[in-house]
Amino acid sequence: MIINEQVCIGCGRCQPFCPTAAIHYKGLKSTIDSDVCYECSTCLRAAHCPVDAIAESPNVYDYPRALRRYFSDPSSTHAATGIQGRGTEESKTNDVTRRCGPTQVGIGIEIGRPTLGMSLLDIQKITRAIARAGVHKIEKHNPIHSMIANEATGDLKQEMLGERVLSAIIEIQVEREQVRGILQTLKEVAKELDSVFTLDAFFMVDPNLTLPPDILEDIKAEGFTWRPNAKVNMGLGRAWE
Ligand code: SF4
Repeated sequence: MIINEQVCIGCGRCQPFCPTAAIHYKGLKSTIDSDVCYECSTCLRAAHCPVDAIAESPNVYDYPRALRRYFSDPSSTHAATGIQGRGTEESKTNDVTRRCGPTQVGIGIEIGRPTLGMSLLDIQKITRAIARAGVHKIEKHNPIHSMIANEATGDLKQEMLGERVLSAIIEIQVEREQVRGILQTLKEVAKELDSVFTLDAFFMVDPNLTLPPDILEDIKAEGFTWRPNAKVNMGLGRAWE
């Protein structure tokens, strides 16, 4: 984002709206530090500048800076997925897509928060740790998938490592017997991160409509508390098989 210094009257209204504190005074006018700006557009959407001094920066969609916008502005459509937001529709559409089958568990690593964010170097720490644990496939419909340079190592494309985004979701699928190992890996890599993450575990309910006890026991055994959150398909989609 940019502020037109010729137009700004220095009222300061926009400054508290910035989630990363990128807007500050320069003399009597407000200015935006482009290194700290995540291109989330919150100032433009919410501050209601009285003189319309706030605008999109001309290079917001230049690669790799465009990643900031795609991952940080919830109103933008991600170029890699064609949908709004930082992840996929995985948990809401699994009844139809069956991406996560009955023997599998989908893991969503939701890293960053609207007021915290993180460097893509932090995302790479996680993708590398996952690769070392033997998981070499990020969900192909997730935008992180197209950012991987080397599936064997989990390395991201070099040119994007200087970028920062407010939040992202890394989505993988593992077999049920791999759940504990992946959770241990994530607990270890969490110590190296300059950000925070929460974990989602996606799985199909058992035929008798109960949650699979073995998965819940594995989650508990690794020291995590879990909270059921159902996404129920009310007949709006039909499985492909
Ligand atoms: Fe300047 Fe507009 Fe921000 Fe006020 S709200 S400080 S006029 S950019």
